[in-house]
Amino acid sequence: MESSKTKAISKSKNEFQKHQAPPSSTVAAKKKQYRKLCFKEVVYTVGQTILFRETDKTCVVGKLVRIIEEGGNPQHPKWPMIEVQWYYQRKDLDFKKLGIAQEDLIYIGDNEVFPTNHTDRIYVDCIVSPCQVFTIKEYDDLDNIDTYTFFTRANYNPMQKVLEPSFKEWETFCICSKPLNPNLLYIKCDECSQWFHPSCMGLTDDEAQQQEEFYCRPCQGKRGGAGTNAGAGKA
Ligand SMILES: [Zn+2]
Ligand SMILES: [Zn+2]
Repeated sequence: MESSKTKAISKSKNEFQKHQAPPSSTVAAKKKQYRKLCFKEVVYTVGQTILFRETDKTCVVGKLVRIIEEGGNPQHPKWPMIEVQWYYQRKDLDFKKLGIAQEDLIYIGDNEVFPTNHTDRIYVDCIVSPCQVFTIKEYDDLDNIDTYTFFTRANYNPMQKVLEPSFKEWETFCICSKPLNPNLLYIKCDECSQWFHPSCMGLTDDEAQQQEEFYCRPCQGKRGGAGTNAGAGKA
């Protein structure tokens, strides 16, 4: 599909509903639209992110966009079908096509997900549990991270095979100017409060964790190196 976002929105309503969560008010006028469902004693609400069973060993994140009354599992005819908007994981992306170099893949997080406009109707019994998807800033500030905690900083368009924003537009850190991977260790400079990779500062991870005070290379220069003795203070 080559149409831009604005074009997609101006499509006929039927076409639109096939691909995206319809505004609830539109549907409510036509037919009762369920907002909540209860599965294995857990209540799920439209708009919530959920972990779904993908294979025996893997799970996938998706957002519940619609509860469909009809259909359902033949073995459990009363169970509804659900429409899910998929959040891709790193294994679902072709990084070569995205122009992301092999050595840059370490900056993609293990718990990083990429919301897409790809939706499917699936059986409700694919649900594993609720999960949470945070922005990368929120995720980085969390104290407790478990296997049900994810973060996102870019959407993925499976039709056009692009990230939005693109990898090159992601916020970067350290003197190497690489995107943050919250799963890696960073060390904070006591002068400029910026975050750095220990390896980029000539430290091992262990050494970095033992530092009581740390000044990054640019700040070390300002603090009295570099021969000019400019002083550390900012005028
Ligand atoms: Zn670095
Ligand atoms: Zn610094």
